[in-house]
Parts: sequence; structure tokens; C-alpha cells
Amino acid sequence: MESGGEAPDTIAAIATPPGQGGIGIIRLSGPSARKIGETIITRSLAPRVATLTRFHDVGGSQLDEGIALFFPQPNSFTGEDVFELQGHGGPVVLDLLLASVCKLGARIARPGEFSERAYLNDKLDLVQAEAIADLISASSEQAARSALASLSGDFSATINNFLAELTRVRVYIEAAIDFPEEDVDFLAESEVVSELTTLSTSLANVRSRAAQGRVLRDGISVVLAGKPNAGKSSLLNALAGEERAIVTHVAGTTRDIVREHVIIDGLPLHLLDTAGMRETEDFVERIGVERAQAASVEADALLWIYDAAEQPAAASTPEDLLPPILLQHVLAHPALPLLIVANKADLLASHLIEVRQAQPLQSPSGIRYHRLAVSAVSGTGLPDLKARLKAVAGFQNTGEQLILARRRHIDALERCQQHVDAALNALQSGQLAGELAAEDLRYAQRALSEITGAFSSDDLLGEIFSSFCIGK
Ligand code: GDP
Repeated sequence: MESGGEAPDTIAAIATPPGQGGIGIIRLSGPSARKIGETIITRSLAPRVATLTRFHDVGGSQLDEGIALFFPQPNSFTGEDVFELQGHGGPVVLDLLLASVCKLGARIARPGEFSERAYLNDKLDLVQAEAIADLISASSEQAARSALASLSGDFSATINNFLAELTRVRVYIEAAIDFPEEDVDFLAESEVVSELTTLSTSLANVRSRAAQGRVLRDGISVVLAGKPNAGKSSLLNALAGEERAIVTHVAGTTRDIVREHVIIDGLPLHLLDTAGMRETEDFVERIGVERAQAASVEADALLWIYDAAEQPAAASTPEDLLPPILLQHVLAHPALPLLIVANKADLLASHLIEVRQAQPLQSPSGIRYHRLAVSAVSGTGLPDLKARLKAVAGFQNTGEQLILARRRHIDALERCQQHVDAALNALQSGQLAGELAAEDLRYAQRALSEITGAFSSDDLLGEIFSSFCIGK
């Protein structure tokens, strides 16, 4: 299968990261890969045998020496002839080599083009191709393990099993439609209903594993807001484990949003540290307050931090603490989790430190929130804060194999489930039940096929592969 039906050309790319390294690899794929590779090494090569050899430019002068490898089609990563030149990892040498293979007829590959060819040649399905990109960019061990499971075909196998089950039920229903002399009700009473019910339950289970996996892959964004000097930067550093944001004693220094990425037990957390939230005449600082509010719109949670040593314990509801602009925002977005964090607990006598609330509190105007006491300096309360953040994300590190899903997978699973449920409803409600159910099951199949790419548009393919790194 080849897009547009044109004969494929030969592509080349530096497959190792930019910069200096012990080894640098040029990878070629396509019908001329072998001829071009063998011209560079001025000899022929046995398939799949690592061979130490010299690399030359088109004029015949030596550029480098290293290992050359040839993988004949179809048993290669892309399914085409693949030739690899593994030389020294210097940018100049690699650029010269790349220029030479291009002079010999190769073209520089687009990002993800090797994986795209592997997909077009049925070496991988879309889920597996995406898993390659996810494995490369995995930000935690659990994410890497889940990506590897998808690459090995676990998620694809689940989808294919659902597809097979849908096909079986559909064939049965369509056969029933073709024999109208039978009582239509027999569909409602048959095993079809119980099979679809089981399928719907399994779909819900996979959706939940996929939703967890998406959190694992994408993480959650949390806005850190609070008055100047409350200790936002210190807290951010304490969570990140190293000094990143600038911590100062002068109020109002963190004027820009600092983005920090930390991993808490495998959960990527994107922390947005905003300018001090204070009703202020200072123009720059006001921009910061507005930015904080804007950031809260996209965030998964809002952390309001205050200096517990300065604030009387009795006045610590959101109404007491938040500036009006943010209070309005919170009131208008009741689903946005709000964490009120009393910082500098180390300065308080221990009996003044509030007990962590497992259940949300409710403020006088009905805002639901959690309250925690922490110390960015001593580390007190940080484990509770981390646990609360994981709870906000709905993230449970149960050790169960998660599916490192993308938004498009979850959308497709949701659509599939809606159609399966609609088919069930149709079957249970009589009139034209068979036709309606069969139609819904067709849609359900189509939604699932989008996941593995058995049914997908060129636009989608372009979007997926263009996000890959070069040489992959
Ligand atoms: P920001 O303006 O909210 O970012 O506050 P900073 O992180 O710059 O902290 C302001 C001051 O409070 C600095 O002097 C910090 O060392 C101090 N501070 C921050 N957190 C704590 C804490 O938990 N305990 C104590 N004792 N001091 C803290």
C-alpha cells in the first residue's frame, strides 16, 4: 500500500540526536537505499551482517569509517530496503555523509516518514506507530512501559478483538434481517443482547484504562497562585526538587509565568507559577494577575498559597483569601478543583497547624475546596499535597497496565461505545430494531478502525506523523 500509488523514492535522515556523540547514524529507506549505501562504502554488503568499512563522498574521498548494515525488504523496519551507516557522531561528518547520499539520489526524510512507511507497508498499525513516538518522549518509567506494551501490540489486539466481536454480532443481526419471516423479537431475546452488553462493559473498562493512560502521558496543569512572598516559588522548587524559579524576599518578583514540569509517582505535573496575586496599581504586576487568571482557565486545578504565619487561622476561607477577580473565576467554574495551601507551617506552633482535610470543605458562598498545611522549607505536608494533586488528576498508580492513549483514541472509544449502546437500545425497543442496530454497529466498527488506522484519512495520518522527530 503506498499513498497516491506513486513509486516511493528513497529517503535519508540522521537518525541520532543532533550534536556530538560517540556514534551517529544515517538511515536510508527505499528502492535505491542499497545502491546508494554501497556506493558510499564502495563495496557490496551481505544482508543483516554488521560490517566495518570506510565511508566515502561522491568524489571518492574518505569521510569516516564505521559499521554498515543492509536490511533487504520486506524484513526491515519500513518494509523497504533499509541501509544504515553508523559512523562517528560529529555533526560535520554526518552532514557531509547526508549530503553525499542526497547527491546519489536520496531525499531528506520528513519527520516520522520512516514510521509512516512502516505503517503504509503494514509493518505497524497506527497505534504502534504512535507508541514509537510515545516511547521516545516518555517522561516516566511507567509511561515508557505502557508505550512499549502498545508498541508490542497489546492495545491493537484489544481493539481488534472488539472489532471481531462487533463483526460477529453484525453478521448475525444482518442474517436475521434477511429472514423477515422470523419473529423480529427473537433478536431482543437472543444472546445478541447479552453479548453487546458484555462488549459495552469491556469498552467502558478500556476507556477508563485509556483515560488514566492519557493522564500519564499528558499530565495535569496546575496554577500556583498567591500573594507575593507567600512562598509560591519556594513551593514550586520544593515540588520540583531543585532551584528553578527565582526566590527572593522582595514582594512581586515572579512577574512572568514559570512553567515547571515535575513527575510525581509517574504523574507529569505542569506547574504554572504566576505573578503575585494582589490588587495592585503596578501595571506589570496587574498583567501577571490577568495571566494567572487566564492560565486558570486551562488548568486542571488551582492552588492558592498563603503565608499561614501572617493570616489568622480563622480567616482562611476562599472568600477571605482570594482576590475578587479570582474569586469570581472560581465561582464561575465550580468544577475547577481548588486547593487552599497554608505555607510556612514551620513558623507556626504545631497545635496551630491545620489537619489535612480528606473531604472537601464548603465555603460560605458554596465553593468546594481542600485545605492543606505545608512548609516549602521543611517539607512538612508535601507528601499530602502530592497525594491531593494525584487525586485531582484521578490518577491511581495501581500498577495495572495502562493504555498510553491519545485524545483521538479516547474520542473513538467513546463514539464506539455510544453506537454499541444505541444498538442495544434499538434491539430492546422493537420496530426496525435489526436495521437500526446493524447501522449503529457499522458506525461502532468504523470508530474503532480509526484507532488502528484500518480506516483513517490522509489528514489524520499527516497530523500524526508530522509530530514525530526526524529520522523516526
Ligand atoms: P513568592 O513571592 O510567593 O514566590 O515567594 P517566595 O517563594 O519567593 O518566598 C518568599 C519568602 O518566604 C522567601 O524568603 C522564602 O525563603 C520564604 N519562604 C517560603 N516558603 C517558606 C516556608 O515554608 N517557611 C519559611 N519559614 N519561609 C518560607
